Amino acid sequence: MVYQANPTRYETMEYRRCGQSGLKLPAVSLGLWHNFGDATLVETSRQLLQHAFDLGITHFDLANNYGPPPGSAESNFGRILREDFLPYRDELIISSKAGYTMWEGPYGDWGSRKYLISSLDQSLKRMGLEYVDIFYHHRPDPETPLSETMRALDHIVRQGKALYVGLSNYPAELARQAIDILNDLGTPCLIHQPKYSMFERWVEEGLLDVLEDKGVGSIAFSPLAGGLLTDRYLNGIPPDSRAASGSRFLNPEQITESKVAKIRQLNALAEKRGQKLSQMALAWVLRGDHVTSVLIGASKTAQLDDAAGMLKNRHFSEQECADIDAILNR
Ligand code: NDP
Repeated sequence: MVYQANPTRYETMEYRRCGQSGLKLPAVSLGLWHNFGDATLVETSRQLLQHAFDLGITHFDLANNYGPPPGSAESNFGRILREDFLPYRDELIISSKAGYTMWEGPYGDWGSRKYLISSLDQSLKRMGLEYVDIFYHHRPDPETPLSETMRALDHIVRQGKALYVGLSNYPAELARQAIDILNDLGTPCLIHQPKYSMFERWVEEGLLDVLEDKGVGSIAFSPLAGGLLTDRYLNGIPPDSRAASGSRFLNPEQITESKVAKIRQLNALAEKRGQKLSQMALAWVLRGDHVTSVLIGASKTAQLDDAAGMLKNRHFSEQECADIDAILNR
């Protein structure tokens, strides 16, 4: 059956200006790090993408190495795009990145001009696209001169292979320098993509101020701490969860008694607010309007409904913020 997007898809999602740019992003964006590689049935991935778009989630975030195996998330996304989303291409923001290990040898990793430009060419081929909307440098490279990496991003925009560029995982001071270089080159930095959740708050110590100061937007990745900040692990580790999947990034050892105790208290607070813990955790990242969008992952379409449903109650009283801080600092 030919996919027909939900005609009401723009009625409930919120679209937020990304820094001082002309671009708006949905308050909730979908990342394709998990559940889009060859280990997942393409029909499952297709349902997730269709359901997300039907909810007004117009932004899909990829990277060269998403899979497994690396590259397969982009290839599978390219197939679904071709089969379902071509009529909607101009309604979508599609991101990719390079910066982590992608291929063997000295040119398939980090931040050289050689790596970034060839990696994006490969990504475009896998996805069947002429350009991505946002291309990121995925992590800082301690060896390559920052100016070389930023010049490569500028070049990519001038070539028309990306409309905007961004940084990911850059600490505050390095982000400031990179943003200044990009401004001097005439290709402003659109966005920064840091890890940010109730359990990981480093961005509050400088990075968000730099972005505010420079007029750069931000998109918080892993806002649910990979699923910890949900009701998933309240009573053990479900067999279909990320923690049970053998993931390097969330394993049973990380789900300690003290963590679960905090999750239970947060869950009780969310219940008092009349929402799920996952919804409170996402709303919390968006509080104060410093963050443009929360970048979630999903293994089930109901998780996307939860995320979009968060918008019904995304404001916090001072008391609620203090209660959350008290739980997190315990
Ligand atoms: P999250 O913190 O949102 O975790 C997503 C996982 O949480 C889901 O896969 C699901 O896991 C669980 N979950 C989601 N919603 C619910 C719900 N309502 N109820 C119960 N469980 C839920 O984000 P990710 O860690 O997946 O990262 C999101 C995206 O961020 C990535 O896809 C990627 O695009 C980007 N990213 C960027 C990085 C970078 O370096 N720039 C690094 C990492 C991620 P389960 O499988 O258990 O159902």
